[in-house]
Amino acid sequence: MADVQPTTYIPEPEFGTSGSTPRKKTISNPYLHRLQRRHFLLFDVLPIVGTAAAFAFLAVHPIGVTELALLFSMWLVTGLGVTVGYHRLFTHRTFKAAPSVAAALTILGSMAGQGGLMSWVALHRRHHECSDREGDPHSPNLAGSGLKGRLRGLAHSHFLWMRRHEYPNIVHYAPDLIKNRALVRVARLYYYWVALGLVLPALIGGLVYQSWTGAVSGFFWGGLVRIFVLEHVIWAINSFLHTFGTHPYESRENSRNGGIFALLTFGESWHNNHHAFPESSSFGLDWYRLDPGYWLIKLLAFCGLAWDLKRPSEERMKATRIPRNGKPAPSTTA
Ligand SMILES: [Zn+2]
Ligand SMILES: [Zn+2]
Repeated sequence: MADVQPTTYIPEPEFGTSGSTPRKKTISNPYLHRLQRRHFLLFDVLPIVGTAAAFAFLAVHPIGVTELALLFSMWLVTGLGVTVGYHRLFTHRTFKAAPSVAAALTILGSMAGQGGLMSWVALHRRHHECSDREGDPHSPNLAGSGLKGRLRGLAHSHFLWMRRHEYPNIVHYAPDLIKNRALVRVARLYYYWVALGLVLPALIGGLVYQSWTGAVSGFFWGGLVRIFVLEHVIWAINSFLHTFGTHPYESRENSRNGGIFALLTFGESWHNNHHAFPESSSFGLDWYRLDPGYWLIKLLAFCGLAWDLKRPSEERMKATRIPRNGKPAPSTTA
């Protein structure tokens, strides 16, 4: 298989120019907004309806070990696809991976139904560029002060921003990915991968129970309920972890750590650590902070399938850490 791992990403100039032709950093037109509305209804609203239907369907087909196993395993592999693949490998290039691993992570991340790889990467790179300032696609901190402003900001950043938003130009934000033809070939099948993530649990449910109701139950719990749970976990990073939690490292936005959610979020809830050191493959930074995404990367490295794992130096972490008096220690490396 051709190499599908990202090549070097070099950020482009402030306004992104190609020769003498100015290139816009974001695009906004009725066609894109129609696609956004469709994606929002299919993959954000439908899982809510599907979760309600799954509970109603319990009257027809009670939940068993099979449904719980499907929910857990599909949540685990698609969640790791998002954090290890979409986020740590492709967006921030915190490590390098074998082509087969990069392709598998693209497929698993796509199954989560949170957008195609290129769009996800472009949106997330823009989030880091503009964090909590004008241009951030999902900041909870730009909707005004007071309780009303805070609540409006939380709703926007958690969920509502996806209905319609400025689309980050992938030519500007993800040039390293779109140059990689093998990766584009896998990533452009996004809708098929999402469908596979729904068909697979239905198939397993049907085979285990040897019935159509078993297939429907598998579809609900391993498909729509799993998407619903994972989505809200990931969205909570954008909303709650730019509002509440601890802030141990100096960073220019309002990112926060929420350690108690570390296992549930595959290590993503060390969000202040991540904003302070976006190039780090470890979000926990220290061994005692739970970080399942990093554990998978270490396992891949142990098997020879991942390498060049990046981590900030101890000196840099010490210089960036906010001491009790509220000011970062002076850098010892300058
Ligand atoms: Zn953030
Ligand atoms: Zn990030």
